[in-house]
Amino acid sequence: MKKYLLTPGPTPLPDEVRKALALPIIHHRTPEFQKIFIRVNEGLKYLFQTQNDIFTFAGSGTAAMEAAVVNLLSANDTAIAVCGGKFGERWREICQAYNVKVISIDVEWGKAVEPAEIKRLLAEHKETKAVFTTLCETSTGVTNDIKTIAEIVKASPAALVVDAVSGLGAEELQTDKWGVDCVVAGSQKAMMLPPGLSFCSISPKARKAIESSKLPKYYFDLRKAKKALDKSDTTFTPPVSLIVALAEALDLIKKEGLENVFKRHKIMAESARGALLALGFKLFSETFCNVVTAAYTPEGIDSTQLVKLLRDKYGVSIANGQEQFKGKLIRLAHLGYIQPSDIITGISAIEKALSELGYKVESKKSVHAAERIFDNYFKGAKK
Ligand SMILES: *Cc1c(COP(=O)(O)O)cnc(C)c1O
Repeated sequence: MKKYLLTPGPTPLPDEVRKALALPIIHHRTPEFQKIFIRVNEGLKYLFQTQNDIFTFAGSGTAAMEAAVVNLLSANDTAIAVCGGKFGERWREICQAYNVKVISIDVEWGKAVEPAEIKRLLAEHKETKAVFTTLCETSTGVTNDIKTIAEIVKASPAALVVDAVSGLGAEELQTDKWGVDCVVAGSQKAMMLPPGLSFCSISPKARKAIESSKLPKYYFDLRKAKKALDKSDTTFTPPVSLIVALAEALDLIKKEGLENVFKRHKIMAESARGALLALGFKLFSETFCNVVTAAYTPEGIDSTQLVKLLRDKYGVSIANGQEQFKGKLIRLAHLGYIQPSDIITGISAIEKALSELGYKVESKKSVHAAERIFDNYFKGAKK
């Protein structure tokens, strides 16, 4: 059965990336690898929209989240964490694991954080060393207003750390222009790669924090990593195949152009929303994101059953709700190597599966809704 991956990570791989993954392994301390690594670091700067250093680790997205915490902070430091979903909560958990005092902003799931709340807390807690937040909260399908948050944090001594694991390459994030000190990313989302790489960018302000940080670290020590990076080298053995594939993925992003990449994601998200609404789903959040659409299943439909039927019978993988929303929400992802035909396939399968589960749907209405949005897009895109 042909399989369709419409989950918020991992995501499908372009052929160029899959071919690169199949190449023979080369040694990492060679001019050949160094050349690729230099190309990768240039490409990452384009994607992150920054001139800052970007560090690459072997590990899932959470690895770079942990790297940010252990490199910027010391035990008993104060940090603010925006917790509006599973991934925001992860910031709090990592901080707590290292005895960092966390002030959490508990945002209702499905809502974006009020930047004014960050401003208020920073004024009240002048000792705050870092603010941790999320670009796209993948568990709820919400985008936070990082631009406004950055303006606020910039005026304080704290460093702004943004989890853009799912958002980078799907949603606008101007690292340098907005002034984000540390952007965390992962390979298996909009970067069109398998899981296994994670990244963090470090601004001059974040670099200062690194100098005084006392939390324990070894693999993630960015002081050592910086010495290696300055020689276009890595501290330890990098996942060679993933780096080679990353060079290809970054070339594809460059070729399409970031602006077009964002536009494509926006259209995919719009069509997914339009189609799900036509099917009787209710959107979960008010501030949509271009990464994933979270929606309540229609009356009487259990999302766990729906997700299973889609996967087993139609080969279409989408995600269930997380935590308290398991069984109630679906999360239809539209990030990375995704084009209109993928969305149409997914929507058509959802329509069939709903009807099999006993929910009355008006045949093809949802597919038409998605197609209408695509038609408008392609009309505008024609040369
Ligand atoms: C996927 C994801 C992560 C990282 O998860 P891993 O399983 O460690 O790769 C972190 N934050 C967000 C917002 C994500 O979507």
